[in-house]
Amino acid sequence: MLDLHQKYFQLLKLTRKYIEQETGTRIPLPKIRRQGEEGSRKGTLETIENTIQGCKKCRLSQYRKNIVLGTGNTDAPLMIIGEAPGEQEDIQGQPFVGAAGQLLTKMLAAIHIERENVYITNVVKCRPENNREPHHDEIEACNPYLIAQIKVINPKIILCLGNFATKTMLGKTEGINILRGKIFDYQGIKLLPTYHPAALLYHPALKRDAWIDMQLLQKEIEEENGVRNMSD
Ligand code: SF4
Repeated sequence: MLDLHQKYFQLLKLTRKYIEQETGTRIPLPKIRRQGEEGSRKGTLETIENTIQGCKKCRLSQYRKNIVLGTGNTDAPLMIIGEAPGEQEDIQGQPFVGAAGQLLTKMLAAIHIERENVYITNVVKCRPENNREPHHDEIEACNPYLIAQIKVINPKIILCLGNFATKTMLGKTEGINILRGKIFDYQGIKLLPTYHPAALLYHPALKRDAWIDMQLLQKEIEEENGVRNMSD
């Protein structure tokens, strides 16, 4: 038997679907409202930005054009963590601006989330040469910046893209095939691993499972919204 919360979320979902069908327009998910702290996050992120400038803690500093710290809404309830900047990201100094980034934007849009309403970053902030995978010591060297970002953004939900982000965050040895599609706890924050959009470009057959994960993300965000609305 459905409990009251589940009935409430189902009703919300059906109402949105009905309005979308009737009007032919898509309704973005409402932002999760957060109390306090607004404004202070931006300042604290700028402090991290200043700290990371000129960082030479690992060998990736030799190849980069730009350090790619992160971008998006600093008050975002959803934080997305990828692997490393690619060529375009390195040139533009922004995460997820290449082909994988465009797919990520579409994946978010499919569950009614506008990209500018989330905060996006990577496990390492400098591009590994020839887009190789980041090494363990490079991930470790860069990890304090990621932890500092998570502390500042203090998201409700983290979406981890791919093996490296997931293993770094959860400290697990299993691969993304095993870990994807499940909600984990990261220091009181919900964490959902899914495939990296770059993997989806190379292996389109994985898109089906990625869609299931995105729907789970949508449900978690709706629940977060619902719980907050109901507690008002
Ligand atoms: S990857 Fe991180 S630790 Fe390594 S040089 Fe770049 S900013 Fe510094």
